[in-house]
Parts: sequence; structure tokens; C-alpha cells
Amino acid sequence: MITTRKPRRDKESQMPRKKRTCRFCDAKEVYIDYKDDKRLSRFVTEQGKIIPKRITGTCAKHQRQLVKAIKRARHLAMLPFVSDSIR
Ligand SMILES: [Zn+2]
Repeated sequence: MITTRKPRRDKESQMPRKKRTCRFCDAKEVYIDYKDDKRLSRFVTEQGKIIPKRITGTCAKHQRQLVKAIKRARHLAMLPFVSDSIR
């Protein structure tokens, strides 16, 4: 496999890293409520896609719970599967 990666990647290391914390861990949340669609909607894009944890900073444990909660909420029509409002 040939990877065409640009050699200069040290720019990232120079940039100050933002401290990412899992907001569910901060709130000491044990269970993510799937009925809380307002909160869940913050973790999905406008297209209805789930935002990856590397962007939101959610830890693996809570991301798993979050995905489950979002999927459950979708099934109950509280969150959209796809929203085609934009296009
Ligand atoms: Zn967490």
C-alpha cells in the first residue's frame, strides 16, 4: 500500500491542544437517556449523522451508550434518520 502523506505534519504538534473531556463523565452520568432528544441532537449533525467521538471528545464507553441512545431515539421518531432539509 502506498500512502501519500505529506512530510510536514509537525504543525499539529505545535498547536496547543484543547483539553477534551467527556461531558458525560464530567456530569458523572451513568445512563444516557434516549428520551432526552435535545441533548442527543447535539451529538448528531444536521443531516442526522452521529458525530464521531474524536470530534465531540466523548469517551469510548459513553460513545457506545450514546450511539445506542441515538438509535433508540431514531426508532421512536424523536431524532431523524436522515433529514433532507438542506440541498
Ligand atoms: Zn465518558
